[in-house]
Amino acid sequence: MAIARFWRETPRRYNLGGSRCLVCQSVYFPPRTVCPTCSTHRQSIGKMEPLQLSGDGEVVSYTVVHEAAIGFEMQVPYVLALVRTTEGPLLTGQVVNVVPDEMRVGLKVRATFRKLREEGPAGVIHYGYKFAPREEAEAGPRAGREAEPAPAHSPDVSRARA
Ligand SMILES: [Zn+2]
Repeated sequence: MAIARFWRETPRRYNLGGSRCLVCQSVYFPPRTVCPTCSTHRQSIGKMEPLQLSGDGEVVSYTVVHEAAIGFEMQVPYVLALVRTTEGPLLTGQVVNVVPDEMRVGLKVRATFRKLREEGPAGVIHYGYKFAPREEAEAGPRAGREAEPAPAHSPDVSRARA
């Protein structure tokens, strides 16, 4: 992927910002401007609203990768999982803080944001989401049912000057 395209997409990748169709309530990530689910796409024009994914989900499928891609040699073996988010969209990502033997379908995970790789001497750093077991994410003094708010970097329109 070209660098320019990567950076253009970075805000929504980083924030898991998706979109929801107000006609059929389908949720999409990456966000869409037109809903492909509605019987005629014209129905959803102007009816798509931004939706922030919580990052919480459940593993529906996974694989243990032993042969790493270039740039990931230090991380094998690692777990790559297909995660069904609570909002609906499927995300693919690495699962960290878990040994392959502990992986199972149905494992509850939460997205975290990690450095994916650095590129070349200029040190361009790619960030993206990864997943970690949710039990671990909730361990500690702040354990509880309250979900941590997902990082949000949306423009603060409330401070816009009149
Ligand atoms: Zn729709």
